[in-house]
Amino acid sequence: MRNVIEGFLRFQQEEFPKRAALFKRLASNQTPQVLFIACSDSRVVPELLTQRGPGDLFVIRNAGNIVPSHGASPGGVSASVEYAVTSLGVRDIVICGHSDCGAMSAIAACTCLDHMPAVANWLRYADAAKVINAAQTHASPAHRLQALTRQNVEAQLANIKTHPCVALALQQGTLSLHGWVFDIESGHIDALDSRDNRFVSLAEHPEIHA
Ligand code: ZN
Repeated sequence: MRNVIEGFLRFQQEEFPKRAALFKRLASNQTPQVLFIACSDSRVVPELLTQRGPGDLFVIRNAGNIVPSHGASPGGVSASVEYAVTSLGVRDIVICGHSDCGAMSAIAACTCLDHMPAVANWLRYADAAKVINAAQTHASPAHRLQALTRQNVEAQLANIKTHPCVALALQQGTLSLHGWVFDIESGHIDALDSRDNRFVSLAEHPEIHA
């Protein structure tokens, strides 16, 4: 924790003064164009991956980059999605999974989560990906995990479309969805191409969307 506090002190003394004008402008207003939904994993840092700064990304992070589908008792993720789309008017939503995801590994390996009931309950929002994955044969556990990570991004894209505000913005053509998977070791991102439901290199196909 000491590193974290020392980091803040360094930010306050060295970085903040350099960006004082930016923070002054942001002090009473934000106009992010992108809602970025990622895993809580410490290795996935949205602003670093996209080279964005304060005010640029509206971010939701949770175990497994999950978006519960619209339902009777909306929680924090649903509220944040609604706020981003309806109040902030974001133009794009990125749902970003990643390699070596603990949540996806637990699902892929059918790990017993009895000792983590909240996690087990939360990961039920990935059940569509889980059953699709379980019905397939894979060359190795690593291949199974890679496929599940992508299938989960697709499942969460389907979930987010059930939110009325997202459905409306998509219908009105004011919102685009993006499904990404970040590979920690290589630094590459594969993105879902909705035209044929395949993941392709984002670097080679920067125009791709879900
Ligand atoms: Zn993860």
